[in-house]
Amino acid sequence: MIPDLNRRVFLCRLASLLGGTFISSIVQATPPPEKGAKHTVEKGETVWGIARKYGVDPQEVLQLNRLEKPYTIYSGQSLLIPGTVKDDPPSGEENADRKHVVQKGETVWSISGKYNTTPTEIIELNDLKKPYRIYPGDELTIRGSSPSRSRQQGIAWLCRLPEGVRGRRWRYIIIHHSATRTGNAAIFDSHHRRLGMTYGLAYHFVVGNGTGSGDGEIEVGGRWKRQLHGGHVRSRQMNEVAIGICLVGDFNRTYPTRRQMENLVPLVQYLMDRYNVPKRRVVGHRDVQSTDCPGKNFSLTSLRGKL
Ligand SMILES: [Zn+2]
Repeated sequence: MIPDLNRRVFLCRLASLLGGTFISSIVQATPPPEKGAKHTVEKGETVWGIARKYGVDPQEVLQLNRLEKPYTIYSGQSLLIPGTVKDDPPSGEENADRKHVVQKGETVWSISGKYNTTPTEIIELNDLKKPYRIYPGDELTIRGSSPSRSRQQGIAWLCRLPEGVRGRRWRYIIIHHSATRTGNAAIFDSHHRRLGMTYGLAYHFVVGNGTGSGDGEIEVGGRWKRQLHGGHVRSRQMNEVAIGICLVGDFNRTYPTRRQMENLVPLVQYLMDRYNVPKRRVVGHRDVQSTDCPGKNFSLTSLRGKL
């Protein structure tokens, strides 16, 4: 819940007024939940054709898969499709560890992004020592997938930043509830704009509860893609350094769904790892401001226990 967001009735009514098309047109980063996370390229297919098939932006498919000009794809190639995090177990081929030969200019960080893994995992797996220097020609082992890694990978590509956008120095992760029974990123976005927030959606991520978006679906806000400050707490200083994650629901009355928690945990883990945020800085809105957000039924202790 953002500080001045108390018009619960208004929000609920707004939710029922908005049609699906309108919603997905606002939050481009989040196509409808039925879209698959992966697509195996068939003969004759093009990036443009595949993007159209899934109703997503071809540019996003290119970015997500780090495809470069002339954007050649091959039949049998596995492409990531922008969208929701799926639980599908990965195929056998992806379970095998892979080798990566370091190219000029690459860093552990940039390689981890390429393979949707984390810098920490590459460091551990290859026994790299501080300051984790790697050289062109070095061979690195990249871990294959497992079902839980598949979710972790999905999260990594959801959080991926567009080319040219640099990660901010995030220091905190703040958990909120929407204090509404229903909602999604687009609904909150339009509400926050009406409240005068130029950059819209005050949070960086919204985790759905099956009402306005999929149950457990992670929606990525525009502020994340542009690495902008949040608008989710009163303190301006805190907004500058705190990632805001909002779970749809009113946790003074109900509880987070199982799927919300199942995806929240790896999302927070990924962000902690990527931005070096310690567990003690994963907090609830009520820990930094006088509010009951994220609701009496949301236990931060229990969340931290799972991280
Ligand atoms: Zn809040």
